[in-house]
Amino acid sequence: MSEGFGAFQVDELNRRFEKAGPREVLQWGLETFAEKIAICSAFGPEGMVLLHMLSLIGRPFKLFTLDTGRLPQETYELMQKCEEWYSVKIHVYAPDPGEISEIVHVHGVNLFYQSVEMRELCCKVRKVRPMMRALDGLSAWITGLRRIQTVTRRAVAKIEIDDAHNGIFKLNPLADWSEPEVWDYIGTHKLPYNTLHDRGYRSIGCAPCTRATNPGEDIRAGRWWWEQGDKKECGIHIFSRGQSANNGSTDS
Ligand code: SF4
Repeated sequence: MSEGFGAFQVDELNRRFEKAGPREVLQWGLETFAEKIAICSAFGPEGMVLLHMLSLIGRPFKLFTLDTGRLPQETYELMQKCEEWYSVKIHVYAPDPGEISEIVHVHGVNLFYQSVEMRELCCKVRKVRPMMRALDGLSAWITGLRRIQTVTRRAVAKIEIDDAHNGIFKLNPLADWSEPEVWDYIGTHKLPYNTLHDRGYRSIGCAPCTRATNPGEDIRAGRWWWEQGDKKECGIHIFSRGQSANNGSTDS
């Protein structure tokens, strides 16, 4: 466990921050970890809220993203807009070209539609491994996970130890926010967001693996829509405490 914190101290921190707002969690993170903390964003609505809050704190922060090579053009446009909006440089982590060549050569360019195993292989090469590189050397990272996004995320704590990434800290300042709260914040502060949301997309990942959702569907129903079940994750976030152990993302 990093920074000399034990499990007890993490529980204490969660008791302290459970009723606190996201900015307090972010402030604590920036003060505690300084240049050793970064926010990972796939430029979803939660990321837009967190970026705005971080910019208001006034301390420098590192922002990184994973460019899988299969993102929608709208996401690239938002990425560029955020660099200008917040005057930050986005650190972009891409998959290893050799690994991409190999899986495409062996399994085809759209392997993810073949089976869950093939989809997880693609996510591993395009997301999970670049994420390992992105987090290398960090003591903490910030995500936009929310408890009510999907069943796999119900027990997300505001501060966690990330066993999937060398036991570094994982901060989820929006853990207890609802989807309307996120959109109210974006509207109130007139923040930029992915224009795909205006076309019925509620959770956005790679272009071939994301579609708009229908009214009444789960927020993440448009992700890997051809797969059955409600425990669809890409492998970046490993959930415990009875949640899905599916190795399987960030959106974020
Ligand atoms: Fe591959 Fe789809 Fe996963 Fe993106 S979301 S890495 S295209 S399987």
